[in-house]
Amino acid sequence: MANAPDKPVGRRRFLSKAAAGTAGLVAAPRIGSAKPELLANEQDQGHQNVPSDVALRVKALESILVEKGMVDPATIDAVIESYESKIGPRNGARVVARAWVDPAYRKRLLADGTAAIAELGYGGSQGEHMVVVENTPAVHNLVVCTLCSCYPWPVLGLPPTWYKSAPYRSRAVIDPRGVLREFGVTLADDVQVRVWDSTAEIRYLVLPERPPGTEGMTEDALAALVTRNAMVGVAKVGGRGGAAA
Ligand code: FE
Repeated sequence: MANAPDKPVGRRRFLSKAAAGTAGLVAAPRIGSAKPELLANEQDQGHQNVPSDVALRVKALESILVEKGMVDPATIDAVIESYESKIGPRNGARVVARAWVDPAYRKRLLADGTAAIAELGYGGSQGEHMVVVENTPAVHNLVVCTLCSCYPWPVLGLPPTWYKSAPYRSRAVIDPRGVLREFGVTLADDVQVRVWDSTAEIRYLVLPERPPGTEGMTEDALAALVTRNAMVGVAKVGGRGGAAA
């Protein structure tokens, strides 16, 4: 497990809440309609909805900011719309596919994720640093934000509801193998699991293993196999004929 020991908690807490207010909580009612199969742990669904008092607080905060002329509701809507419909996990899938077909790009991606992702035209609007961690036969990486819902928006779009849920945030750290099993990923005992705790400053993207039997596939076809869950680390990428869990 790799929790960043030097994360600036005070600053992070503030920035994270600001981020959540922009897209996480304001957009929560829409995210709440996410398909039930995306939930990690259906019996805990009651814990996964944003509490109504939080939603109300966000709404109240938004109203005050609008009233004082500090934010433009049209801008907030445009940002949400952009992340909902224009920016999504396909960006990340293109990054992964490029890394699979271009060893030099893969090397750059693992050495400096922010710069390599920017090469493909994707970048953070908030200046967050991207770190790409690679799955191998010996190592499986899993991404979480234990404090709130920090997530690599520019490459994956909006976080799924389960990612923001308290059960995922705590259990990904306490029992990552158990969480992975619930997502349909069973790892051999000798596979090391590394859990990465995202912050407002550092966002992680998992570079999944390229599935066997895909040697002749084009970059576009490979990108189509890559799922959001695989890039969070709760799934593996299936081969030709569709993605795995
Ligand atoms: Fe967070």
